[in-house]
Amino acid sequence: MLSTLNVFLISAFFCVVMLLVWCSLLRSGIRGVREWSVANGLGVVAFLLFAFGKSLPPLIAYELANATYAAASASVLIGFQRFLGRETSIKAVAAGIVLLTIAIAVFHYALDSFMLRTQAVSTFQVAVCLAIGLTVFRARQISRSRYPTYFTLSMALIVALGHGARGVVHVTNSSELTSLLQPSMWNVVFLSLGTVMLPALTLGAIMMVHDRMMAKAEHAANRDFLTGAWSRRAFFELAERELARARRGAHAIALLAIDIDHFKSINDTLGHQVGDEVLVDMALRVETVTRSIDYFSRVGGEEFAVLLPDTDRPAALMIAERLRAALDRSKAGGQAAAYTVSIGVATLRGTDSFRELMRRADAALYQAKAMGRNRVICESI
Ligand code: GH3
Ligand code: MG
Ligand code: MG
Repeated sequence: MLSTLNVFLISAFFCVVMLLVWCSLLRSGIRGVREWSVANGLGVVAFLLFAFGKSLPPLIAYELANATYAAASASVLIGFQRFLGRETSIKAVAAGIVLLTIAIAVFHYALDSFMLRTQAVSTFQVAVCLAIGLTVFRARQISRSRYPTYFTLSMALIVALGHGARGVVHVTNSSELTSLLQPSMWNVVFLSLGTVMLPALTLGAIMMVHDRMMAKAEHAANRDFLTGAWSRRAFFELAERELARARRGAHAIALLAIDIDHFKSINDTLGHQVGDEVLVDMALRVETVTRSIDYFSRVGGEEFAVLLPDTDRPAALMIAERLRAALDRSKAGGQAAAYTVSIGVATLRGTDSFRELMRRADAALYQAKAMGRNRVICESI
């Protein structure tokens, strides 16, 4: 049968492996990674103290070992709070660890009871696991994918349940269960469950970190850094998909090509920095006029496009005019730079490719420029 010593050594080994995984993520700058690394480091120490408790002074084998293990679990909780941008409960957690250590000392020196020591540890661990579950659940909207959130939540609840069950079993079997290193079936079962606590929660945390890194990378790849609009590459991919959908369902689709008027002179007279501010200002105003199903992209330096799904020619013209008016900053006062835009409108025809649709919207835009700027021109049919 698996001895309790082996269970503790396996637990320490798992924590070393997890610690090495965290070390690879330390430079990511993601909040929480440091706390999760500390948790696994403390886990290694705690499990070794438990494993070799018999040959250690009692104060180290009982009070220090339990305090270290409690600090490891608490670090996991603080890691999740940091990672998810929640307020950290360092004071409450520190108070909990101190209280637990005092309880262990009382149930060790004043009233020697393995059962009561176990109750104290179980109560602390259940509270930490429930706090982890609650933290993750409350922040479930932050994650891009639900899977890491629900995985971590399930792990936290399973471990809380395991600690709760351990507390109950120790009350009902208090005469048989007298020490942590005793090779009883219950000890091995619950200590094995304890073995998976840090790795399981660590895996949940790693999944969440991975999800965030993917989201960051996707954002960097698909969005324009300055304005947050879709990048040209992402826009072309999205547009092809929307065009295919529109053709399948015989829906209308429209494209607006937008270009800032005399932008070069804004740069030349007010400076590149003001030019950049105009681009950001323009992008913010477009977001307020367009719908959530529309795609707004920066297709070139000061050239933008808006793809309007399920929009026919009259509706596209109306939206384009509303946009032009919202972007008519020719009378902008105060510190704001004055600017206007010209817009070309084209709608999908037959088996048009997206490039063809774009070419026609650009041609209409060119006409708008030629006719004096600050206007909307729709391609002629
Ligand atoms: P028109 O009314 O005919 O569109 O005139 P324009 O001056 O806007 O046209 P043009 O295409 O000649 O000028 C575009 C300018 O946009 C040139 C380039 O320096 C500037 N530009 C491109 N990208 C950026 C950017 O990221 N920031 C800033 N500040 N300027 C940019
Ligand atoms: Mg321009
Ligand atoms: Mg231009």
